[in-house]
Amino acid sequence: MIHDNILSLIGNTPLVHIKNIDTGPCELYVKLESQNPGGSIKDRIGLVMIEAAEREGKIKPGGTIIEATAGNTGLGLALVAAQKGYKLKVVVPDKMSKEKIGHLRAMGAEVVLTRSDVQKGHPEYYQDLAEKLDAETENSFYINQFANPHNPNAHENWTAKEIWDQMDHSLDAVVVGVGTSGTLTGLSRFFAREASHVELVIADPVGSILTEYVTTGHLKKAGSWMIEGIGEDFIPPIADLSRVKSAFSVSDREAFLAARELLEKEGIFGGSSTGALLHAALTWCRKQTEPKRVVTFCCDNGNKYLSKMYNNFWMHDQGLMERKQFGDLRDIIG
Ligand code: PMP
Repeated sequence: MIHDNILSLIGNTPLVHIKNIDTGPCELYVKLESQNPGGSIKDRIGLVMIEAAEREGKIKPGGTIIEATAGNTGLGLALVAAQKGYKLKVVVPDKMSKEKIGHLRAMGAEVVLTRSDVQKGHPEYYQDLAEKLDAETENSFYINQFANPHNPNAHENWTAKEIWDQMDHSLDAVVVGVGTSGTLTGLSRFFAREASHVELVIADPVGSILTEYVTTGHLKKAGSWMIEGIGEDFIPPIADLSRVKSAFSVSDREAFLAARELLEKEGIFGGSSTGALLHAALTWCRKQTEPKRVVTFCCDNGNKYLSKMYNNFWMHDQGLMERKQFGDLRDIIG
């Protein structure tokens, strides 16, 4: 099939049945959002948010799109902006992998790196800084994925419908991560309407506030974590957590080792959030007493994490892997 434009390759991502990892009595399927042309689940919102802004007259020809992003939304926006002739300026916290930052720059985006160790309300926090840059830039539009209604809309009308059809309308649970909460909120709305028995489970990094908020309603102070793209230190304005039945707190180590196992045993090359989702999905599946059909996501491609969790030396340096687990340190391949 010949595509007229790279943008028509966004979406319609495949589901893969997990066969070589113990899923208890359940059937677990992974949706390969990593197959999107920008490499992640965020291409969908990049396209939908930009086209909505065009329809609503918020972006003018030659204008600059500004966004605060952990990297993947930036890549999705860069893909769409380049095809449509917009400039893109992204504010990225400096803990994000250098592969993501290099990829953004290669796609023509202007990358403004900022501190990862400050929270909302601080002028160097990535979202506050993006807002300031928007105010200072002429003919600009701040996409603001955390508050943009077209972020959850994209997942409600597109991602969720795709999953439901691919599963032949036979599905018991979906395990998602929460960054902006666009995926969760969109899926939640779709399933509330179409199949309210479908359970929503969240995978949340240790240090993020969401697990405690969902289970007790208490808002704690956030810690820090290395898993990229999921976990929160505030409740995003678009978040609808009301239908979340269970939340699993996943450590960096559990997430990274799960991602490595997914690659070794299933050949699925995912990022760190994929590892967190897989760990939570497996924990949920193994607790079940009845067979269930479950979907989770490979949110982005693992090649952005080769210098981090797929690198044995890096894992060792972070105290996440014993030297005896990967042999001699003189092995320079890592
Ligand atoms: N995984 C990765 C790698 C991401 O970049 C993101 C988005 N920040 C997510 C998962 C979470 O998606 P959402 O923003 O829809 O909650």
